[in-house]
Amino acid sequence: MSNNKPVQIILDLKSNDDGSDRKPHGHHGSCRPHVVICPGYGNKDFPFPNAEDLTVRALTRLKKKQADAKAAQAEGGEINTDGIGSKSSKGQRPFDTAGSGHSHEHITGACAGDSWDGLSKDQTFVPGMPNLGQIPKPAAVIAQSKRARENGIDGTLFVAAGGLRELLEDGKYDAIVAERFDDLVDKVNWARDNMGPKYQRAVESLSSQLSKLREVYLGALPRVLDGLRAQNPGVGEGRLIEAAVEVLDEELKQIISVLRIWTDAFGQQRGGSYKQLDAVVFAVEQAFLLFEGNDPSQPLSNDVTTRLKNRVFGVGDTFVARFSGEGPATLPGTRGPVRAHALEVPHDERHFITLMLVLYMHEFRHDVFHDVEGMGEELTAVVSKAIMQAAGKGELKLTREHVNIGKQRVPLANLLTKMYADTIGEVDADVSGGVLLAGPAFLYNMLMTFSAFNSRRRGVFNQRQLLRTSSFYEMEENANGQMALSFLPHPPDYIRAHIVAAALDEIGMPDEAKQCRLLADQAVGWKVPEFITWDDVNGTKGRPTIKIPVEDIKRAAPFVARALIRTPLESLGKVSTGEVIYWTPKSEAKAQMLAEMMMDGEAQLPTDKGDIHVTHVIAAASLAYWGLCKSGTQPRDGAAVIEATALKMIDQVRNAFETRKAALEAEAARVAEAAKADAAKNLAPPAGDGTGEGGDGESGDGGEGGDGSVDSDAGDPSAETGPDGAGPVAGGPGAEEPQS
Ligand SMILES: [Zn+2]
Repeated sequence: MSNNKPVQIILDLKSNDDGSDRKPHGHHGSCRPHVVICPGYGNKDFPFPNAEDLTVRALTRLKKKQADAKAAQAEGGEINTDGIGSKSSKGQRPFDTAGSGHSHEHITGACAGDSWDGLSKDQTFVPGMPNLGQIPKPAAVIAQSKRARENGIDGTLFVAAGGLRELLEDGKYDAIVAERFDDLVDKVNWARDNMGPKYQRAVESLSSQLSKLREVYLGALPRVLDGLRAQNPGVGEGRLIEAAVEVLDEELKQIISVLRIWTDAFGQQRGGSYKQLDAVVFAVEQAFLLFEGNDPSQPLSNDVTTRLKNRVFGVGDTFVARFSGEGPATLPGTRGPVRAHALEVPHDERHFITLMLVLYMHEFRHDVFHDVEGMGEELTAVVSKAIMQAAGKGELKLTREHVNIGKQRVPLANLLTKMYADTIGEVDADVSGGVLLAGPAFLYNMLMTFSAFNSRRRGVFNQRQLLRTSSFYEMEENANGQMALSFLPHPPDYIRAHIVAAALDEIGMPDEAKQCRLLADQAVGWKVPEFITWDDVNGTKGRPTIKIPVEDIKRAAPFVARALIRTPLESLGKVSTGEVIYWTPKSEAKAQMLAEMMMDGEAQLPTDKGDIHVTHVIAAASLAYWGLCKSGTQPRDGAAVIEATALKMIDQVRNAFETRKAALEAEAARVAEAAKADAAKNLAPPAGDGTGEGGDGESGDGGEGGDGSVDSDAGDPSAETGPDGAGPVAGGPGAEEPQS
């Protein structure tokens, strides 16, 4: 990287939030595992390698390991000359590989990869490699020896013994494979027998993926072993197996660990001790149903299903959750079994999961953002346009026209737009997930959670600044020698608080917005920085620190929040996100009421306050924790009370939901039955029948009897814009009383 060449930094506006920083393993940079998700971008089926490819890859991996080890070794000693380039050895290889003068002290993959490849193509007979060799055919029938003829003793013994040996060999591999997969398979089998019908498709899919994987492993293991054996004469079989297994495990590690997310989820269900996981699953599933614009218990209208051309999440999808060292995160079903999205829940949240559930609304929104076709791109464009237009018209007044990046002057409006565009995924998840699904509870939760994370090492009272005010960028040189800048997807905490505040303003909660800003300032010790800074993520020398005035980021935030909430989106069928989900004063009143109950440990849900959704309960849990801390309750005690109470409340919401759903399904069935009877009576269908969207015949997707909700109940899709926009109108006619 030359330092004296003037590099031009370019700001191209496209969302770089493709989720790639949120892989289940090894996300890097400043990304905090707790505010991270893992949307999947896999293929429809998990891309398993076949046994041949796996073998080649495994052997190549060994080769590289060996080469690395060699390079690390001091020079001298034995140098492996059996390289790829050696002509003479190449010429003789088919016959001399196993028994030639080459002696390898190590299990070396140094020549394995290539020679193996060559061998398998040549189909040459190789001693010690029975599976691959092609045994020369005799030219004609050969006479039997006299002894054999007379005694009736032929080669059967050798064949029989050899066969048995092979069988034992097969069994040996089975044992190794069993060790790897039996536990996973057991859990899936348990799920097949014990989990509800809605999980069965996922169970079947998982089961077939596992058996595919098992087959691949079983196919590759002997081949890898053969390859190793041929290349390492004299090395003990045990050591060879060890090496083969090790390298195959490494090769398949990622696939296995992804599948394990699902099998663990089943396993933890089997364990029965993780009631909290059910709460996570229920909260996210309900959020999803709310987002679809209906009472969660209503079947979806065709209008809604068409509107949400889901890329990954389909109608009727289910979620499973596991506690793990990762997360919070979700992995869409495309990365594992179909139609079951996996939620990663950090173990350390296990005893107070209800306090953290509002964060899963943020996670949930990530999935929507990546899932609804065209939404990510559209929101990026919408937000960029909003900032540029506001700046152009003078509605957004910036503190200055230009800022410097190193020696280059760039228009501040452009840089600001670029920053918001690059962080759009997170900003959107905070605004349209956190705030619109949980209201002010999200602000309290976010601020205390960030502060807790940031003080993990030193403690709250030793950490001067509880919210971060800096982050990182990446620069990539393009073909023209320009440097393309991209900000990492997570805006620094302090800014996020201000974006959340702007969203609260936008939904008519200015007092809470003010509170949010004050708390953010308190968290940075009342020393509000003048600039938010971004540094090169790789620490490359000579790269400038990018500084954007805090004041300008704050001024742009309302335009961003408004654009995200209010702009009608093509990807949502020309409605805005705010028309689909919304947190109203009524929602907030319910959450506040529940929070007070929780603080008193009172779990019995009222029956006269309209529908209570899980979103109200989870918002209440965060508010109640804050309230108890404010009241001087010891935080651990407070958390314990809330956890117990909130879980009970969630159970009631779940029961009410299931009862309502069952009633609606029964009603739909009755209507369908009646329609059938009608149709039987008069053979010609009534003329006006086409109006009810999607007559019962065509809605095969999940919602049994798609128009069962056409009757008088709350199924009217317009209910989504009702005053309690988080779902049906409060106290709507469809409300069954919650059961305790
Ligand atoms: Zn996030």
